[in-house]
Amino acid sequence: MSNSVSKSDVILIGAGIMSATLGTLLKELVPDWNITVFEKLSNAGEESSNEWNNAGTGHAALCELNYTVEKPDGSLDISKAIKINEQFQVSMQFWSYLVNSNLIHNPEDFIMSLPHMSLVQGEDNVTFLKKRFEALSKNPLFQGMEFSDDPEKLMEWIPLIMQDRASNDPIAATKIDSGTDVNFGALTRMLFEHLKSKDVAVNYKHSVNDIKRTSDGMWELIVRNLDSGAVERHTAKFVFIGGGGGSVHLLQKSGIPEGKHIGGFPVSGIFMVCNNPDVVAQHHAKVYGKAKVGAPPMSVPHLDTRFIDNKKALLFGPFAGFSPKFLKTGSMLDLVTSVKPDNLLTMLSAGAKNMSLTKYLIQQVMLSKEQRMEELREFIPNAKSEDWDLVVAGQRVQVIKDTEAGGKGTLQFGTEVVSAADGSIAALLGASPGASTAVHVMLEVITKCFPEQLKEWEPKIKEMIPSYGLSLMDNPELLHEIHTSTAQALGLSEKNFPVFN
Ligand SMILES: Cc1cc2nc3c(=O)[nH]c(=O)nc-3n(C[C@H](O)[C@H](O)[C@H](O)COP(=O)(O)OP(=O)(O)OC[C@H]3O[C@@H](n4cnc5c(N)ncnc54)[C@H](O)[C@@H]3O)c2cc1C
Repeated sequence: MSNSVSKSDVILIGAGIMSATLGTLLKELVPDWNITVFEKLSNAGEESSNEWNNAGTGHAALCELNYTVEKPDGSLDISKAIKINEQFQVSMQFWSYLVNSNLIHNPEDFIMSLPHMSLVQGEDNVTFLKKRFEALSKNPLFQGMEFSDDPEKLMEWIPLIMQDRASNDPIAATKIDSGTDVNFGALTRMLFEHLKSKDVAVNYKHSVNDIKRTSDGMWELIVRNLDSGAVERHTAKFVFIGGGGGSVHLLQKSGIPEGKHIGGFPVSGIFMVCNNPDVVAQHHAKVYGKAKVGAPPMSVPHLDTRFIDNKKALLFGPFAGFSPKFLKTGSMLDLVTSVKPDNLLTMLSAGAKNMSLTKYLIQQVMLSKEQRMEELREFIPNAKSEDWDLVVAGQRVQVIKDTEAGGKGTLQFGTEVVSAADGSIAALLGASPGASTAVHVMLEVITKCFPEQLKEWEPKIKEMIPSYGLSLMDNPELLHEIHTSTAQALGLSEKNFPVFN
């Protein structure tokens, strides 16, 4: 056993989009800080951030129906949709800054314009969609959204979905052309190449096995070099746990009180991918439907055009499922070993409260290919089994914690930054809305962990993200400027962002 020791200002655990984003932000804010990364796999962006492991939707609430909730009085709460849209604009500004500063190149390799659509069937759902359209289209953030319940118009928008449709049920859709498809895997790899060029030590095939506080207030990581088998010790003043699903175990190892009474509930995903280029060519949009009763919000079915490896692809899903692994490359013991004395009650309560969800997920795992094809045929009535293959996507580990509103063992569907009181360590838990809001979430890490430096860093943050600290909804002129400049920098079509009057 070797005892090689390195000292860093910052250690990032995991080479996914979150560590990539935090590392890139910090390198711009304090170029002389020395940053080290440990990733257990052999490349960056191989877990949830990989293009085949997530849906690549630039989540801006343009099409996801679960971000607008119908209140008991029938009115719509659009606050979550506004929040997510504003957070996505933060990512768009930071990516544009990186392109304009020549820190990353060829944005078409990671982002493409693509219409985002919501599609519903049945009278009640059509009424809901119309109400949603009326509430959102008045807001500058959702400018350019169109609604139609006219089958001829829908045939123009989504021929693959409309042709051979036998049902006479009312059907309607909204469409907004300013949506995006984002290849988060490509972006993650680009950001790590950039970090390497800035002397960040990126160590692949290095698994972090333990995290301990040292007597002088630093953090010591016990890291196994998976090639040589050597066990190394590395210390840092600040540690970010960006291990994706692996973050729950790492947070527990740190022993910080803020990490107690928290657990994780893994939800797996499966996509169907079309292997027939003629079918792929007939569709050009991300079309989100409504989640089935009892289904968790992240399993809303959608039919998506994707751009992967510079090729157009067509994916349907994700079908949710249950697997006890916290990472796609994780262990079947992940769920069991995450139960500790301090979170036992929380986990048991969550288990009791979510029996129906667990049952639903297990049923989903058992679906045959033909049963999955039946769900796909709700979107493409004449879909042929031989045109579609199954691909296993990433794992999403939902946070379980005790909350005032939900009580013990409440399942959360958002992302959560957990940090030590002194800001010396932070972990990112949860997976939704995920990679799209990485810049906003990593700025939250910076705000929580570096409050003393924040004032000094603010001018640089504002240079990178002009809307920092401002509401874009309340500043339509700034929003228009940002839409225009980000579209130019990222090679997106400017005509997709009409001026809001
Ligand atoms: C099915 C599915 C669909 C999704 N769709 C979307 C979408 O459409 N849009 C969107 O914005 N988001 C989406 N997401 C969410 C998004 O993919 C994630 O939020 C995001 O990729 C998480 O990034 P990360 O860096 O936290 O984790 P990851 O990308 O999982 O990276 C974590 C890294 O840490 C490494 N690691 C873990 N433990 C250790 C250890 N002990 N030592 C060293 N390394 C370690 C892992 O190997 C991995 O490389 C989806 C996710 C899934 C699963």
